[in-house]
Amino acid sequence: MATITCDRCSEDKEQLEDVPMGGDLGQKIMEQICSECWAEWRAMSGNLINHNALNLGMPEHRAELRRVMKEFLGMEA
Ligand SMILES: [Zn+2]
Repeated sequence: MATITCDRCSEDKEQLEDVPMGGDLGQKIMEQICSECWAEWRAMSGNLINHNALNLGMPEHRAELRRVMKEFLGMEA
């Protein structure tokens, strides 16, 4: 499996096996974020969705989750 130098934890870690979401953002995450940091975000996003009762069918809720995700992963907006 390929390793990358992760932008978030700055370590050489395993890359994600698949692009985690569509579009440019998914590509960036694949190239810049290791699978461990992504797993951390997945766990946290589940909590966030429950805690804030986010409805991912609503564009503004998806946008908010995306904003928090970029912040969490240390990606530029
Ligand atoms: Zn990482």
